[in-house]
Amino acid sequence: MDLLQGLESGADDYLTKPFDSQEVRARLHVGQRILDLQDKLIAAGEELLFRATHDNLTGICNRGVILDTIRRERSRQDRGGNAFAIVLADLDHFKYVNDTHGHLAGDAVLQEVARRMTNFIRPYDAVGRYGGEEFLIVVPSSDAMGALGLSERIRHGIEATPILADGVSISVSGSFGIAASTPGHLLDPQEMIRLADDALYRAKKNGRNRCELAAQQDLTTHRSPEVDPVTPDFAAKLRTP
Ligand code: GH3
Ligand code: MG
Ligand code: MG
Repeated sequence: MDLLQGLESGADDYLTKPFDSQEVRARLHVGQRILDLQDKLIAAGEELLFRATHDNLTGICNRGVILDTIRRERSRQDRGGNAFAIVLADLDHFKYVNDTHGHLAGDAVLQEVARRMTNFIRPYDAVGRYGGEEFLIVVPSSDAMGALGLSERIRHGIEATPILADGVSISVSGSFGIAASTPGHLLDPQEMIRLADDALYRAKKNGRNRCELAAQQDLTTHRSPEVDPVTPDFAAKLRTP
């Protein structure tokens, strides 16, 4: 009866007195085996979770996780949170790096760039691999100017020291586009990414290895028609006599 009660209360094993020391030792071994299995199961679960959420080349967050981070920051704003910003970064002439030094050296460059980005961000910022040689950084509690400062530090950190890959020293640079959602000008995640992408495009057009903010006129142009009465249709009606 005691045995049943003991096992039902959560015990893994039950010994009755007087017990044999050899049997105790054997049962302890069984217990240890179960604990080892449990540890392995937990480690395997953690590894699966890591693989599902991280980019396997660079070890930083994958696209899905970094996009979720933006959505999370955006809902925090709905509950009274501060401004937050995103930075879209794209390596310059990366195809040339691959063509000149090979794909493996290109991979090593991506790994080192991700490492440098991770070193520059604060613990509560997040960096993820958005696409091939594109990275997305989420900067909570920061407006566009704050994220610009961070982007400049990262940009300099990438270009200042060539990357050693396969015994070859490779100089790389990146272009950065920054967009912020502020309490006075809320943007949904899609809009933020589009604006950051526009700004990144401008950084490329203006010579690469530079950072550009989402322009104020972009912020106006991309505002959704429901909240902005000055749509072309509306403006045309105003002009009609
Ligand atoms: P730009 O300055 O305009 O961005 O030029 P770019 O050459 O960087 O742009 P493009 O989009 O033409 O080339 C991106 C290259 O990135 C092409 C692709 O082979 C490379 N790439 C994408 N993912 C990986 C990867 O995982 N490893 C390596 N080695 N290269 C990658
Ligand atoms: Mg690209
Ligand atoms: Mg590129």
